[in-house]
Amino acid sequence: MINIVLFGPPGAGKGTQADILKDNYNLVHLSTGDMFRYNLKNETELGILAKSFMDKGHLVPDEVTIKMLNAEVDRFMPCHGFLFDGFPRTEAQADSLEDLMNEKQTQINAMIALEVDDEVLVDRLLERGKTSGRKDDANEEVIRNRIKVYYNETAILKSYYEKQNKYFGVDGVGSIEEITQRVSKIIDGL
Ligand code: AMP
Repeated sequence: MINIVLFGPPGAGKGTQADILKDNYNLVHLSTGDMFRYNLKNETELGILAKSFMDKGHLVPDEVTIKMLNAEVDRFMPCHGFLFDGFPRTEAQADSLEDLMNEKQTQINAMIALEVDDEVLVDRLLERGKTSGRKDDANEEVIRNRIKVYYNETAILKSYYEKQNKYFGVDGVGSIEEITQRVSKIIDGL
């Protein structure tokens, strides 16, 4: 198996790249943001619980997020590998992912982070908010808060994977094809 964590602030292009990479490398794409939005739309118990956090741009509590992610991993096993998008976002999530991978007798091979300047992110997300219908993309304050949360709460993950020599930063500015090429070069070298 090959298991990749795709990382980067909101608006960095994780979803776009994940869509391409999952096909190119035959990976199961698991986006915790998409899972929460699905539950929100269908007004499940989980969706109702997550809504108040998501609307403000805050993280949903670890316990809830980890339980949801583990269930999804189980659902797709066995498979060729996973492309995790938006998870892990905290050290507790990273630890639990490590345990889960060990349990499946596999491991995380790399965290690939798309690096994009803050002002470019805000512009991209406001633009996306015009058509996506996402409440958390419509308001500049919420967008800036999500970027702040990303740096405050998730910066620790960079050192987490750096310590294991698994962190790879990629310039996330350029055409979609250019960025796919940069990321693919890393995956091919693993
Ligand atoms: P995203 O689409 O990845 O930007 O996620 C949208 C929202 O879903 C986030 O702002 C959080 O409220 C929630 N969320 C997604 N992934 C996680 C996670 N790994 N841990 C906690 N909350 C998450």
